This record gives sequence, structure tokens and C-alpha cells, in this order.
Amino acid sequence: TSDEVQKAQAVQDTGSPTIFDKIIAGEIPCNKVYEDETALVFHDVNPQAPVHFLVIPKQRAGLTQLSNARAEQKDILGHLLFVAAQEGQKLCPGGYRIVVNDGKDGAQSVYHLHLHVMGGRQMQWPPG
Ligand code: ADP
Repeated sequence: TSDEVQKAQAVQDTGSPTIFDKIIAGEIPCNKVYEDETALVFHDVNPQAPVHFLVIPKQRAGLTQLSNARAEQKDILGHLLFVAAQEGQKLCPGGYRIVVNDGKDGAQSVYHLHLHVMGGRQMQWPPG
């Protein structure tokens, strides 16, 4: 089991603020890629590919994980996916992969919805 999987198995969704709230508040720094009213995009501190960034909603509003999304949040989900595609195209012109880890078996460790966008090399399939 990888470190990331072990970490994810130990984490529980408590609904409390996460490290991403501190990043949104500017209390801890991030390497920002893009920002608008709804979304913040920044490089992952532990990249799994030459390009690896995260797309997160600025207001978590119950979006601890994808499976907690409510019907009235469909626009936000669509916006995050659109932003991921726009920035993915810019930083990874040859193609990229978008991943959402959901819950324990999905190896999620930060309970604030985020899309991983990875590229800059040939991605392999299947993932682990
Ligand atoms: P996993 O840790 O298994 O990848 P997640 O899908 O919840 O689970 O991903 C959380 C991601 O957030 C990880 O890729 C991790 O490297 C990244 N991360 C954690 N803290 C920071 C931070 N301060 N700045 C940028 N990325 C971060």
C-alpha cells in the first residue's frame, strides 16, 4: 500500500475545515494557476506527474466529496470541470487526465472537493 493510500484510509470526513480553506483564505501559500469567483486552481505540492494541479470550489458548502454534491450544485460541478479542461489544455497541450478521488476506497485524503489534473507525460492505464 502506498503512503497516499495509507493516509487516505486513516482520514475521516469530519466536515471540519481543511488545509484548502487556509489556502483559499491566503493563510498558507499556494502556487496559483487560475482563480475566478467560483474556482481556485493551484499546483499540487506532491505532484504525481510533471504537471499536476488541483481545481477546487472556493466555497466548500457541503462539497466535502463528489458524492455529497446536491442537485443545486450541478452548475458548480460543471464549472470546475470546464476550468479543469481550460487549464489542462493550456498546461498539457498533448493531453491530460482528470481524477476525482471519492471517499476511503477512492483514496481521498482532503475532504474538500478537488479535481486532480495531471499531464506532461504519457499517462498509463489502468491507474492503481
Ligand atoms: P491523496 O492524498 O490520496 O492524493 P486526495 O485526492 O484527497 O488524496 O488529494 C489531496 C491532494 O492535495 C494530494 O495530491 C496532496 O498532495 C495535495 N495537497 C495537500 N496539501 C496541499 C497543499 N498545501 N498545497 C497543494 N496541494 C496539497
